Amino acid sequence: MEIVGACFAMRNGVVGVGVGARAYARGNGEQRKGRGGTGATGAAKVSGISGAGESRKTPTRGKRMVPNASERTHVSNLSAAATKELKHWSTRTEAERRDCAATKIYCNRSLNMNRIDAIGFDMDYTLAMYKPETFETMSYNETVKKLVSAYGYPKELLESFEFDPNYMVRGLIVDKKRGNVLKMDRHNYVKVAYHGFTPLETEERLKTYCETSVRQSFSGAEYSALDTLFSMGEAYLFSQLVEAKDSGVYPVLNRKDFMQMYDEIRAAVDLCHRDGSLKHAVAANPEHFITADSDLVPLLKALRASGKQVFLLTNSLWDYTNVVMNYLIDGKIGADKTLDWLNLFDVVLTGSGKPGFFANDSATIFEVDTVTGALHNTDNGAPLTPIGSVSDVTHKEALTSGLRATGTGPAKVYQGGSYTHLHAMLGVEFGSRLLYVGDHIYGDILRAKKQIDWRTMLVVPELAHEIECLQKNKEKPHALRRLRTLRDSLDDQVARHAWLAANADDSTSNAAELARAKELAATARTAHREGMREYHKSFHYVWGQLMKAGSQNSRFAFQVERYACLYTSHVRNMWGYSPEKIFRAPADMSPHDLETDEDFHDFDPSVLKEPGRAEEGEHHG
Ligand SMILES: [Mg+2]
Repeated sequence: MEIVGACFAMRNGVVGVGVGARAYARGNGEQRKGRGGTGATGAAKVSGISGAGESRKTPTRGKRMVPNASERTHVSNLSAAATKELKHWSTRTEAERRDCAATKIYCNRSLNMNRIDAIGFDMDYTLAMYKPETFETMSYNETVKKLVSAYGYPKELLESFEFDPNYMVRGLIVDKKRGNVLKMDRHNYVKVAYHGFTPLETEERLKTYCETSVRQSFSGAEYSALDTLFSMGEAYLFSQLVEAKDSGVYPVLNRKDFMQMYDEIRAAVDLCHRDGSLKHAVAANPEHFITADSDLVPLLKALRASGKQVFLLTNSLWDYTNVVMNYLIDGKIGADKTLDWLNLFDVVLTGSGKPGFFANDSATIFEVDTVTGALHNTDNGAPLTPIGSVSDVTHKEALTSGLRATGTGPAKVYQGGSYTHLHAMLGVEFGSRLLYVGDHIYGDILRAKKQIDWRTMLVVPELAHEIECLQKNKEKPHALRRLRTLRDSLDDQVARHAWLAANADDSTSNAAELARAKELAATARTAHREGMREYHKSFHYVWGQLMKAGSQNSRFAFQVERYACLYTSHVRNMWGYSPEKIFRAPADMSPHDLETDEDFHDFDPSVLKEPGRAEEGEHHG
């Protein structure tokens, strides 16, 4: 999501009322863009004399005032104050970073930070890490209330339903039509499937998803991807309602199909944001919902001191952004809020309507009055003087400085627009000169990388747990790979002996060998299957390892590898790396590259008889 609460959201140049950009966080494909706002433009506080149509010209490079990369201060030639900000970057050695794998930045595609002119951040679940046990639980509880009050669901649900924030994981797909939740590998092969909270039998899973006449893309209106941590509550609620409907206890649920129930959950979530209940709760008590982070300010200061521009690009609107950033940067809430945090950024763009922001280069951009929240028309980002505001010094200055100011002082705040406006404000010519850090594989990363060639870093908070489990089970993956190779070899032996038994002249002499091979192959299969099941359970009791499905990379891991140049568990991990760091991707490995690895050809079936080896064994689903 991006939280916008009961406020206004920009979506492809349209000012609307409602949950706005949160809708972009869900579902698959372009259909996501349609959810949310009601398009009630009359509610927006837009001033200025220029109509939207007049401000849709492509921003001109001539207006930028930001220096080129070559004109900006190089990191090795900084002032004493800036050097102080950067000192921390040199205090951790590579060896120390290796010792703390959970805080490393991992590289899929090599990236030279010297060639990055601007670094941007998403806000929700990127800079601002919400506490699932409080924020997601509140969102879940409010959604159940809305289902009862607005959609006629049984009021008993208020008492009987309870949220488990640890149950769902990212990367799952909800089959809205059948009431199932799926985990698949990188080939979209469904490895694990649950109907409500009940696992599908293997035959049913294969028949429904794997042995079909048409290859399923899992991207239509019948499916919804859990791409963001904000989706966990609604997916969990859906599984609960599927179970409740199947129980037959609630007559009202008999009149609804699974798809309708899912869509009503989504609508109820949207209602929660539209009436501001979540936003006001966070504003009143941010420390209850958001994890404070003392590393954030020094990190942002150091990035700017290194000569790079820093921007905030969020789908949340100004009022909520100001609440969250005040708490994160200054620990301020309520009337104590200030605009000081804007000094840490070169540009702040709210209500951006990602992922449409990365595609729609004709979207209208407004300047936000940071005091009143009013939106002012701009000339492609360059502020216009609104009627009645001729004495406004800020706007006079802005008019003389073009799209962006000089790199000093507080950032101007905008709403809406597109990547073309942002490129002009930052003075960057190519998308590859920007690094964008976000948590949403679809809304922040996929489209930014695919369509405008931004360099990307995905924040994967789950990575810390994933790495911790990998370290605890350090020996298991290798042992399981060997066992799998042995299993495959024994299966080949069975096939060969079976063919000889059926076709060779001395078929009797092969019968014993066939029986022996069958026995060993069955033992190996069981051992591998059980081993994999136990291994995956050590990561998550239902869905197993986030980045794997069986022995293959999961669909989520595939997307991370394909679209995120870098990925890490937390933004603060950037603090451990020089702004001149050259991230290098590991060498690619193809199946035939493993052919020369003797370790995987040194089979010994006797391992199957060794005590304690029975736990090694195929996938967990
Ligand atoms: Mg986010």
